[in-house]
Amino acid sequence: MIGTQIQHYKIISELGEGGMGKVFKAFDTKLERFVAIKFLNPNLLKDSLFLERFRNEGKNHAKLSHPNIVMVYGFIEYRDLIGLIIEYVDGITIEKLIEKYKRLNVIYSLKIIRQVLIALEYAHSKGLIHRDIKPSNIIIDNNGVAKLMDFGISKSLDSKIELTRLGRNLGTILYMSPEQINNQPTTVRTDLYSLGITLYEMLNGAPPYYFSNEFKIYEAHLKNVPQKLSSKFPDVPPEIDELILSAMNKSTVVNFNSATEFRKTVEELIFSLPIKINQVSYNASDEKKEEKKINRNILVPIFFTIILLSFASLIYLFVQNYLPRNDEKLEEQTINFNTIKPTTKTEWQKIDIPNASNFIDMIILNDKIYTIDDNQKAYLIDENSEVKILTNSLFDGINKILSYNNLLILLGNNGNILITDKDLNIIKSINVSEKSILSADILNKQVVFCGSDGLVGKFDVESYNYSIMSNVHSTDYLDIKFLNSNKIILVGIDGSVLISENTGKDWSREKLSNNYLKKIAIHPNKSQILISAGGGTIFSSIDGGKSWTQIQLNITSPVNDFYIFDLKNYYAISSSGDLIYSTDGGSSWNVQRTGYFVPLNRISSDGRNLFIIGNNGLLIKKGL
Ligand code: ATP
Ligand code: MG
Repeated sequence: MIGTQIQHYKIISELGEGGMGKVFKAFDTKLERFVAIKFLNPNLLKDSLFLERFRNEGKNHAKLSHPNIVMVYGFIEYRDLIGLIIEYVDGITIEKLIEKYKRLNVIYSLKIIRQVLIALEYAHSKGLIHRDIKPSNIIIDNNGVAKLMDFGISKSLDSKIELTRLGRNLGTILYMSPEQINNQPTTVRTDLYSLGITLYEMLNGAPPYYFSNEFKIYEAHLKNVPQKLSSKFPDVPPEIDELILSAMNKSTVVNFNSATEFRKTVEELIFSLPIKINQVSYNASDEKKEEKKINRNILVPIFFTIILLSFASLIYLFVQNYLPRNDEKLEEQTINFNTIKPTTKTEWQKIDIPNASNFIDMIILNDKIYTIDDNQKAYLIDENSEVKILTNSLFDGINKILSYNNLLILLGNNGNILITDKDLNIIKSINVSEKSILSADILNKQVVFCGSDGLVGKFDVESYNYSIMSNVHSTDYLDIKFLNSNKIILVGIDGSVLISENTGKDWSREKLSNNYLKKIAIHPNKSQILISAGGGTIFSSIDGGKSWTQIQLNITSPVNDFYIFDLKNYYAISSSGDLIYSTDGGSSWNVQRTGYFVPLNRISSDGRNLFIIGNNGLLIKKGL
């Protein structure tokens, strides 16, 4: 499977395997992004209940669009394969964190649970119960953002279809609520119960009812109260025991009826507990003070100091082992969170375009917007937002639009290049390769293009002459730009940046990142080059690409496009609906939510307005 191309998805690696089948990381060559594809196990294709669960997962999940919920992009049906295309999250699941660190830090765990509760508040408000909350369905991305996955056996509150029975066979019984065991109707409390068990496991290293006998597990869910973690671990205060019991509906004091009640208590604890927990570590330093006193009195034997040092190093080791690396990032994110301006959708004006699919690329020419979707349609939108739609099978798979005088050049899959007039009438269609052109740039009448499997080439817009370069190594190239008429820069999925000083005769190659490089932006006065990378990183060079500095943005998904307005004002957009902007020439960046949680694909301006296109036919504008 790995290395194969299924439709426009290139399978890269296996991410894991669950009850329904295998999950793969793949690269979507049309939208130039990584995705996760969950393929239904072929043996289960005959099982109509499983098929139903699988389709249900896609359908229910697709209703949700939230930063703490992994996005579902669609289904893929190819020969005898059925797959679900999901947002790829570069991160680690809670299950794997527990495997790695055994027990997780209390405050870290509470912060994760808080994020999951925010996701649940949203899902519950949409009338959906997850019903399969467990550590393997919560993933923490590289920015410390927790995302809930797998609405596989989720149920609409008003749905009559009960798929709980299926969930039971899938290793979820450790987290299963009493009502699921009793085949009683599930409610929002079902999710709170399973999240309570999940929190228990994060702090304990194992769930509360962990027996080899299935029946015993069921019985414990129904009858037992879990052992108090505070009696087992000195770092767990009794408030946590109470919190877990309230989530599990087993408290004698208060039980939660909603995700909001649970979240509010978690938030109180996040604020109040660190003081208590710090007191524990202050005790250690108090002992050090004691040590000094005793030393002064020359009463302390040397071995006492050694014991104290070992105690200190034990604390150090404890912190090293039990505090996941992501905790630091989470702190960073919490602070940066204040700089996120919660934009309301009203700040952006949405231009409605009927039946548009995902917008791939856009160009603004003579105040008109030209854009293209992934469903054979090109759109011409004038200043009064009048939309002209042209459907043509030749527009299929176009990834890039350039302009030259009053002509448009459209480049795309299977090496197709179209030249159209300014009304999008096709003048010429040329095929330069079997490989897909993913990006291109133009200077004077020279086009350079790049694409899949090492495709790099040149094309003359007037003579239609083209040549393919064979002197680059084979990877998928996601973007290419002219720095001047001789100098070209090229970035690849393998994290390498290539520069040629002689229009592609020779290339120097440098590996900038372990992650993929996606988009290049060149400052109009050529003073700066920016490159976006997976994981929300930007690389910046002010010496023509000789040296690079790395900037980590506080966003969950990569920058898909840049727009450099002037010397100081830079804009960027992400795959999860964020606008990121800098007012100091790229030194510091602010995140501003657009309010649209879909991948944003291009940003441009006519000098007065910013325009952004994205998936699901999104075209929005805002005055500059
Ligand atoms: P179950 O099928 O019972 O829910 P599971 O959650 O362990 O079990 P899957 O949902 O199939 O199984 O996921 C398997 C693994 O694949 C996950 O544990 C996770 O590591 C990885 N994974 C799943 N979805 C994604 C994603 N969108 N991005 C990154 N990794 C993912
Ligand atoms: Mg899962």
